[in-house]
Amino acid sequence: MFNWLRNRRRQKILRTPFPKSWRDIIREMVKHYSYLDHAEKNRLEQLVQVFIAEKNFEGCGGLELTDEIKVVVAAQACLLVLGLPDFQYLQLESVLIYPTTVALPPSRLSVFADSPMIVPDQQAILGMASLRGPVILVWDAVERGARHPEQGHNVVYHEFAHILDMRDGAADGTPELLNRKLYRAWVEVCSKEFFKLKKDAAKGRKSLLDSYGAVHEAEFFAVATELFFDRPLRMKREYPDLYVVLSAYYRQDTAKRQHLQQQSASELK
Ligand SMILES: [Zn+2]
Repeated sequence: MFNWLRNRRRQKILRTPFPKSWRDIIREMVKHYSYLDHAEKNRLEQLVQVFIAEKNFEGCGGLELTDEIKVVVAAQACLLVLGLPDFQYLQLESVLIYPTTVALPPSRLSVFADSPMIVPDQQAILGMASLRGPVILVWDAVERGARHPEQGHNVVYHEFAHILDMRDGAADGTPELLNRKLYRAWVEVCSKEFFKLKKDAAKGRKSLLDSYGAVHEAEFFAVATELFFDRPLRMKREYPDLYVVLSAYYRQDTAKRQHLQQQSASELK
């Protein structure tokens, strides 16, 4: 019954044409949008419409919410699930957005508070995701990540990867996978790369994967997701097996997408 009502509500939402001003915002601010083909852009717009209609956005710490903020967050969160069936963020109710890096007292922190630095007593965070709570994001980091995928850091991809991971109730770095074959491949590849990253991080060796991924399997998945959407060509070269399992989970070939985009950009020159 609830599904039926929800589906009817969604059909109604989708009968409204996608606002041109929202499309302009995505074009201008979310770099990855330019890599998508026509069908993918349409699908993304539908997901964004549903996301914005169903989720409760709150501006915190004096941040005044605008369409720009909601659309840029929603577009990136929905890009992750572009190839997945259903609407993946059902359990999530709210997205809280602060203007800039926020310090929360330790009692408010969850395992998945992602911080640029650790200071005594409180931790300054860029984003946070928890099992039954809201996603917390910092707007200046969101904006930077949307415009500059080449930097390989994206707090929206990161926190929403945690949400996808937690759909099955466990934040263990393994989201719901298509079948047992993929599950076996996932465990084998991810554990190999996770332990390699841990070793590199312990020795202070730099790698393309952010060493923050060595903290926990869930962080590994979140960090790998950032790379998969931000720098897929390099990821495919340096971590081909990891690229394959992520591509099979997300059902997107981001490296091919970026390759085609680079090709058409060079043809235009
Ligand atoms: Zn994290």
